[in-house]
Amino acid sequence: MQKNEIEIRLKKLKAELKKVELIAVSKYSEIEDVVRAYECGQLSFGENRVSDLEIKAEYFKNNNLNDVKWHFIGHLQSNKARELLKIPGLYAIHSVDSLRLLEELLKKEHEFKGSELKIFFQINTSHENEKSGFESMDELKKAVQLLLTRTDSKLKIEGLMTMGAIRTEDVKASALKSFRDLKAIREQLSITFGLSHLKLSMGMSGDYKEALAEGADYIRIGSLIFK
Ligand SMILES: *Cc1c(COP(=O)(O)O)cnc(C)c1O
Repeated sequence: MQKNEIEIRLKKLKAELKKVELIAVSKYSEIEDVVRAYECGQLSFGENRVSDLEIKAEYFKNNNLNDVKWHFIGHLQSNKARELLKIPGLYAIHSVDSLRLLEELLKKEHEFKGSELKIFFQINTSHENEKSGFESMDELKKAVQLLLTRTDSKLKIEGLMTMGAIRTEDVKASALKSFRDLKAIREQLSITFGLSHLKLSMGMSGDYKEALAEGADYIRIGSLIFK
């Protein structure tokens, strides 16, 4: 892609998003396009496969582009936790989808070389089978509880993540429902744990306007920037 085109798209989105954090999802992109976006001032990028993220993060590190923030947004298998934690510039994991995965990350956290790693719990608000995410409030509360008791951990709870349904008649209406459900879950957690400011990671190319209207803090956009 032309750098110029990436720049125009980023500018337009940023104007719409204002203070909401834009994560440029680079999973479909060649490294050249990611670098072009970086040169336009975009620092936060999202990837959904550990091996792809590894290659891109190494490239940035080797070229001394050290202020980049990598967000992992894909399903993470427990046996890849170690590999992910070692990646330079890893900033957040949006897809912690089970208590077991959180335990694995805590067990391997010595591999993480940064000072703090933001953790989002992914919630399966659309209840589609192929989607990951907590389904049980009880398990979610156990995970939140565990992370909160580990005050010496570099893993810090940042918020909740979700995705709208794909197989539905009305994508935008079901996205809205998912986003509202996510807010309701945040409310429940805030009552249970006295947490006041869990952030919401929600909204993609097809439904980011709905996410903005519902008060998203992080929006993850790929196609609208890179395709
Ligand atoms: C791919 C992906 C996105 C971005 O999707 P687009 O529709 O291309 O904007 C956002 N979040 C997750 C979890 C993804 O896997």
